[in-house]
Amino acid sequence: MKRLLLVISCVLPLSAAFARQAGKLERPKLVIGIVVDQMRWDYLYRYYDRFGDGGFKRMINEGFNCQNTFINYLPSFTAPGHACIYTGSVPSIHGIAANDWVADEEGTNCYCTSDKGRKMIGIGQRMTGEMSAKNLQVTTITDELRLATNMHSRVFGIALKDRAIILPAGHLANGAYWFDDSTGNFVSSDAYGDALPHWLVRFNSKRLTDTLMKSKWNLLYPENTYTQSLADDNPYEGVSLVEPKPIFPHVAIGNGYYGLRSTPAGNTLTLMAAKACISGAHLGQSSATDFLCISFSSTDYIGHKYGPSAMEVEDMYLRLDQALGELFDYLDEYVGKGNYVTFLTADHGGAHNAKYLEDINIPAGNNDEVKTIIELNAALKSKFGKDSLVLALTNYQVYLDERRIRKYNLSRNEIKSAVINFMLAQPEVAYAVDMENMGNATVPEPIRTMIINGYNKQRSGCIEIILKPGWYSGYAPTGTTHGSWNPYDTHIPLLWYGWDIPRGQTTRTVHMTDISATLAALLHIQMPNGCIGEPITEITH
Ligand code: ZN
Ligand code: ZN
Repeated sequence: MKRLLLVISCVLPLSAAFARQAGKLERPKLVIGIVVDQMRWDYLYRYYDRFGDGGFKRMINEGFNCQNTFINYLPSFTAPGHACIYTGSVPSIHGIAANDWVADEEGTNCYCTSDKGRKMIGIGQRMTGEMSAKNLQVTTITDELRLATNMHSRVFGIALKDRAIILPAGHLANGAYWFDDSTGNFVSSDAYGDALPHWLVRFNSKRLTDTLMKSKWNLLYPENTYTQSLADDNPYEGVSLVEPKPIFPHVAIGNGYYGLRSTPAGNTLTLMAAKACISGAHLGQSSATDFLCISFSSTDYIGHKYGPSAMEVEDMYLRLDQALGELFDYLDEYVGKGNYVTFLTADHGGAHNAKYLEDINIPAGNNDEVKTIIELNAALKSKFGKDSLVLALTNYQVYLDERRIRKYNLSRNEIKSAVINFMLAQPEVAYAVDMENMGNATVPEPIRTMIINGYNKQRSGCIEIILKPGWYSGYAPTGTTHGSWNPYDTHIPLLWYGWDIPRGQTTRTVHMTDISATLAALLHIQMPNGCIGEPITEITH
């Protein structure tokens, strides 16, 4: 209580307080949303002593730190994460049920941001440009800012991953730009206009990608200082034919420019493009508040490849810390300290490598969905006499083959029961839940609410599989993944810094859905139309 009073007494920076007294509505000149893909909350502290003063520590020590921020739906993947951060909503409502889902009874796969009616803008592969936010069924906070200001506010977004920027930038974005692996360019689609802006054409023509592709990834500091990680050469990290040992220095490998994603150079390029966008589009220079969404995607690729205990991950976060410092210094100069507000969060976390946990005697393991679906369909055949009654097992959900069930006049309820019984008999499965009948599901909170929030009737499978803690889907023994309800996947950082943000912290539990609600309160604009979150009142005062 004492701490809270102290916080309240010093919450209003002078400029905002003065403006309110003067009877004028004051808003920041620029909002910067930063999502760090796959950043576990505990990375803030695992590497804290090695961070400089200008990046993460500037946000932690001069801003507000929501220490207990949780994702409140399933599955904890990139597309639902970015959608939730910017809509304050959950898959059940916003429709982004996963990165990909089964779209119809034929089993057609739908990618979250694919839109065949759209065309590539810029120089890149045709398919890279066939994208838009049309599968997102609600507004984003960025849409609401445009609506609230009669479109005077402008919204831009930059990331390597298309889904990590199309969903944040929303339906009304002035520009959303993502990476084309075949050319190394940032590209877009005609959902955002019929040509790339001049500043981006200039940026692409500098061919920074070529320089970055050729550079080797070496450790920033002497190897013996990486005491928060396992040895450089350890059996839990991914390797390839080109790189048979997971050791420094690394090179960008893969077709075209894809390899850039899996080195910190991918984040460097994203930062450079974000700075080019700020100056090129003159963000924060007009009377209306502008919004720039940035998502750092390389953290996810590197996390998947090497896992949380890798020296590569430690080095990457030390480099990202420097990149953030560079961004804030640039914003101080270009927009002015105190004139911009920024938040930093993650779309999800990531598990410890299962083999590593097993080796230190913590229960864990991998579940192979491909093998499971074959065995499941075989079990259903022996009971019902028909092949392939399960269409897909993906995103920890079972999709039934509704057409075959109807064709053979089988009982859907009996098949669902058989699927649940089969799954519950697997040693790694904790719960198998009929999402159409949650009233009978005996699962504890908060898993129960997360299942309900994640279930989208049109796009999700009908049975949710919850694995035991430490277990995840995938057959690779190296690296890691995410997608489950457990704290390692759903406890995310949430830092606020800048205009009108008090110094302080809270350990009160807040949710990913509260981020957009808080932004709406800070900016005095309406919440997105599917928002179920609440403002974090320690910040909005
Ligand atoms: Zn992600
Ligand atoms: Zn991922």
